[in-house]
Amino acid sequence: MTDTASTQGFTFESLLEAVQPETGGREILDPATGELVGRVFVPSVSALDEAVATAEQAQPAWAGLGHDERSRLLALAADAVEANAEPLAQLLSREQGKPLNGPNARFEVGACASWLRATASFEFTPEVLVDDGQTYAELHYRPLGVVGAIGPWNWPMMISVWQLAPALRMGNSVIMKPSEYTPLSVLALAEVLNTVLPEGVLQVVAGDGAVGEAMSTHSDIDKIMFTGSISTGKAIIGSSAGNVKRLTMELGGNDAGIVLPDADPKAIAEGLFWGAFINTGQTCAALKRLYVHTDIYDEVCRALTDFAAKVPMGNGRDERNELGPLQNKAQFDIVDSLVESAKSSGAKVILGGDPDREAAGYFYPTTLIADIDPQNPLVTEEQFGPALPIIRYDDVDEAVDLANSLEVGLGSSVWSSDRSAAVEVAARLEAGTTWINSHGGIDPRIPFGGAKQSGYGLEFGVHGLKGLGQPHVVVG
Ligand code: NDP
Repeated sequence: MTDTASTQGFTFESLLEAVQPETGGREILDPATGELVGRVFVPSVSALDEAVATAEQAQPAWAGLGHDERSRLLALAADAVEANAEPLAQLLSREQGKPLNGPNARFEVGACASWLRATASFEFTPEVLVDDGQTYAELHYRPLGVVGAIGPWNWPMMISVWQLAPALRMGNSVIMKPSEYTPLSVLALAEVLNTVLPEGVLQVVAGDGAVGEAMSTHSDIDKIMFTGSISTGKAIIGSSAGNVKRLTMELGGNDAGIVLPDADPKAIAEGLFWGAFINTGQTCAALKRLYVHTDIYDEVCRALTDFAAKVPMGNGRDERNELGPLQNKAQFDIVDSLVESAKSSGAKVILGGDPDREAAGYFYPTTLIADIDPQNPLVTEEQFGPALPIIRYDDVDEAVDLANSLEVGLGSSVWSSDRSAAVEVAARLEAGTTWINSHGGIDPRIPFGGAKQSGYGLEFGVHGLKGLGQPHVVVG
């Protein structure tokens, strides 16, 4: 542990060296080029038991530091991320594929520092529940113990921080299990954070899905923070019952956006575009199906196409690019097959839809599909990539019904020149968050979570901290 984290600087090479095994390991390839990024040591499931023992040993002293000291160290951890921002972003860009520039790798590393600092800053004191002269009751939140954090490959560093920062702030120790696609990014982040944190409070076990499963059954892990697909989330819910594990489930979504007839197509085009295409569409709360009133349908399609056609896609190290490849072949194939199903149904491709399937990188071009049936699979299934279906509607009740018709409800949005009209429609949407005239913007102070099968439990802000503590009522 040190007070001078900001002086500890990694280069890209030294950071990569620090997280790679000396020999062997599994190859990690750049999704933009197919070139070798580095190698990762693949631990067996038994490594988890060692990590849990270390975490259990480290946790009481960490909890004993108290909120002020833990917050001070988390703020120092934010400084350490900032001091190493460029090598972290370089590695993230190579491994995940996202460009350095735009709302991508540098942005993600910056968000890690912001989230750490914000999570360190929240006021968190016991709540006085009743104080009427006869009864006095307080609500405290004690540490849970060891928290397992299982994450996806789309925003691997930022989502790790969403999980680890509140867990650490609340006095827990943490074991991270990154996606097999992006382990180096999470290992590198932990390497930087551990220049500041006491030994053993934050560890990474970069194994496969079997390690994730072992975490969810492990009797000495007290809580799982999970971000990933609905099917894996359901498996974790089933396998975590043994010790009545606490769970926060941030699962998949298929966010609807509804454009009301009074919206200004040119004014909203940029917001619609980035709402849908941030991180090349590989974002849980991205806009994934857009319902547009027939009166302005053609104008919205035109404005969106004009904007989208100008946003460059390519290798992330080229500073001009703001969109990158799909992270992996499986995801490329999902997007490809959904767009092909839309095409064969007679939907109209107004941009893209013509990938080079022989290219070395998993680039799928920015794609807009108009005049599509609301029940087409590109609309009803999560594409998680750069292909947006635009559905025409005549009546707002019909649009609300379609938006609410799926079993998921992470985010949603309403677009209008009249805020109160938009708020009325927002009140009818089944989702964890509804944005007005934007989509997907998150803030460390504002709670975020899903409705329906998009999950349960809130992240961020004081609500997020409470999810990482054991409520303890003291009466008298
Ligand atoms: P997956 O569910 O496939 O994987 C997520 C993590 O779970 C990985 O680390 C994976 O390990 C691990 N895992 C696999 N099997 C098990 C198991 N049986 N028990 C425990 N852990 C297991 O999701 P993806 O990585 O493919 O991420 C994409 C999905 O995540 C999308 O559906 C997206 O919507 C959702 N998502 C949701 C977000 C939200 O906030 N709601 C944010 C970001 C993504 P391994 O890689 O080794 O298989």
